[in-house]
Amino acid sequence: MVAVAEQDRAVIIVGGGIEGLSIARALAARGVGPVTLLERAHLASGMTSKSSGVVRCHYGVESLAAMAWRSVGILEDLGMAAGFRQVGYVVGVGEQNTVALKANVATQQALGIEVELIDHGKAAELWPHAKLDDFAGFAYEPRGGYGDGYQTAQSFASQAKDLGAELRRKTAVESLVHSAGEITGVALADGSVIRAPKVVVAAGMHSSALMQPLGIAVPLRAQLAPIFLVDPGQRTGAIPVLSDLVSLQYVRPDGAGSLLMGGSDHNNPTWVDPDRYPTGPTWAHMSDALSKFEYRFPKLTGASVVSSYTGYYDVTPDYNPVISATPIAGLYLAAGFSGHGYKISPAVGELMADLICCGESQYPGIDHKDFQLQRFVEKRPLLSPHPYVGAGEMR
Ligand SMILES: Cc1cc2nc3c(=O)[nH]c(=O)nc-3n(C[C@H](O)[C@H](O)[C@H](O)COP(=O)(O)OP(=O)(O)OC[C@H]3O[C@@H](n4cnc5c(N)ncnc54)[C@H](O)[C@@H]3O)c2cc1C
Repeated sequence: MVAVAEQDRAVIIVGGGIEGLSIARALAARGVGPVTLLERAHLASGMTSKSSGVVRCHYGVESLAAMAWRSVGILEDLGMAAGFRQVGYVVGVGEQNTVALKANVATQQALGIEVELIDHGKAAELWPHAKLDDFAGFAYEPRGGYGDGYQTAQSFASQAKDLGAELRRKTAVESLVHSAGEITGVALADGSVIRAPKVVVAAGMHSSALMQPLGIAVPLRAQLAPIFLVDPGQRTGAIPVLSDLVSLQYVRPDGAGSLLMGGSDHNNPTWVDPDRYPTGPTWAHMSDALSKFEYRFPKLTGASVVSSYTGYYDVTPDYNPVISATPIAGLYLAAGFSGHGYKISPAVGELMADLICCGESQYPGIDHKDFQLQRFVEKRPLLSPHPYVGAGEMR
């Protein structure tokens, strides 16, 4: 239990996206004392509200797969309160990636993840509209699917509030306050200071600017992520999420009858300014997405794009998150989710609570050292032992 003086907080969380809210929920549930979350705008108004919400445990990095698996159970418990639709998840790979596919599935199965290799016949039953002949192998997770970032974050918020956490909107943190190598609180725009012996920064891309004056480098870049909503022109029936690691796209059902499509080609990223990024895709993005879609779904001849938008991923050099203590005692960071942050968000809250309460992960299979910030300084990037050629997104 963290001791607190009158009116001080035990823990302050900066940022009311899905990660900050999950952390607030987990800390409040552990009874660490008064928890306050400060959000500069509205809860879940950042990248969380733009998430495609794909849920899968298909990672080569063991700790990440374990984080995703731990999260599935929590999303199942939330169910429709998180907009969670357990439609299943299929990943298809080309010939050069079949060895990696088998190795990754074996790692996932050893963690207890429900996943199996499936053949073309089973894949065609799941996705009858797709051209499948250029895939050489598939894996299927029946407990995968997709959820709604905004709804999931709001569920975490209401659970955190019920457990006693204070969530303040329209409260921007101007700077972090520290003394003699220890965090002591945060300063707001009006000059007031809220004191706490523990502060968690979960401010997405803006985390770097908050940490930088303390001499802590957080290597983040914002990578544009265009999303397209497609009317398939016919009923598709029940279909799972499809990760196409040949064309480098993902497609999932979207509510009643639509499809949502995003890219997974990180070979030529478009880097943007997170405060001034284009909110719609360019014609080049559109034409690239359409040609991939037409190639993969030749039977959907009446399909048309009905809407599109862009968000950005806050990416680290190894495309993996930072969930970590920092060189300033009592200061923690949860940022750089690199496009994985929805599916692991329930476990992010639990891992941060473990770090704050016990100093290390309490969950089998999740090694907190994997997500440390210092891995970038120590030049030990978190990489899959069985990476997919040309499809780095899977990690
Ligand atoms: C288009 C797109 C598709 C995606 N698809 C998937 C997917 O299919 N599956 C998956 O797992 N992940 C996906 N992701 C990734 C996932 O959505 C993100 O990793 C996750 O939402 C990040 O949450 P966050 O809380 O870190 O950031 P955010 O939601 O951006 O929240 C950060 C919050 O901090 C606040 N803030 C910033 N500065 C301050 C300050 N100084 N003071 C107070 N508050 C501050 C911001 O206002 C914001 O609300 C996708 C992301 C995008 C953009």
